[in-house]
Amino acid sequence: MQVVDVTRIRSRFSLAGHPQVVEMLCPHCLKEATFAIKGWSEHAGQLAVSETPCPRCNIGVMFLNLLDAPGEPTLYTHPDPVGRTSMEGAEYLRTLSGSLGRTYESALKHYNHGDWGTTALTVRHLLEGLATRLLTDTHHDASLATQLETLPQGVNLSAPLEDIADFLAPNGILGRQFYDETSIDQNTAQQLLELAEQLVAYLVVLPGTMAELKSRIATAPVPMRRGMTAA
Ligand SMILES: [Zn+2]
Repeated sequence: MQVVDVTRIRSRFSLAGHPQVVEMLCPHCLKEATFAIKGWSEHAGQLAVSETPCPRCNIGVMFLNLLDAPGEPTLYTHPDPVGRTSMEGAEYLRTLSGSLGRTYESALKHYNHGDWGTTALTVRHLLEGLATRLLTDTHHDASLATQLETLPQGVNLSAPLEDIADFLAPNGILGRQFYDETSIDQNTAQQLLELAEQLVAYLVVLPGTMAELKSRIATAPVPMRRGMTAA
C-alpha cells in the first residue's frame, strides 16, 4: 500500500468527507490519471474502501481511507506501482563503481515515479559514466580489466559504447531529445533504461559472473582417480 499525498486529493464528497477526485500516477500503467471515486463503503467507522478503475488503462485501483488516526485521515492505494525492478546482476555495477550503481538506482526511481525527462537525463549520465569508466579506465587494480579478458576473442567491446556515443551525440537519435527533456515520454524513457541495462549486462555483469565461475572452477577440488598410482 502507498500513501497518497494529501495535495493529490482534488475534491471531497463533503468538507471533511472522503476523497472524491484524486489525481495521481496509476500504479498499473504509470500514467498520470484523474480517479473519480463513485462511492465508499465504510467499515466500523474507521475504514472506508473503494475500488475505482483507472480512466487510462481501466484496471481497478483500491483506495483505502483510514480514519482512526488523530487529525486528517490517511488515504492509501493498492497495489504499489508495478514499476521496474532492479536488473539482475546490478550488484556488479555497484562493485565496479558505487556512484554508477547509485545513478542506476536513481534512474529506476525516477522511472517508477513517472518522471520520464529526469529518467532520460539520469540514464544519459549513467551511460556517459559507464563509457568514461570502461574506455579510459586507468585504474590497473580494477578487476574488470582482467574480467574483460575472459570474454571470447574477437568481440569488440568498445563497439556498443561507440554506438551509444553516436546515439547520444547532439544530432544523434537520442541526443536530439535531450534539448527538451519535457518532450520525453514513457516510451523513450523505457527504451533508454533498457539500452543502459543491456549495456551494463554485457559490459559489467557478464564479465563479472564469468570471472566468478572461472574462479569456482579453478578452486574446485579435483577428484582422485582410482588406479592412477598403479605401476
Ligand atoms: Zn492506469
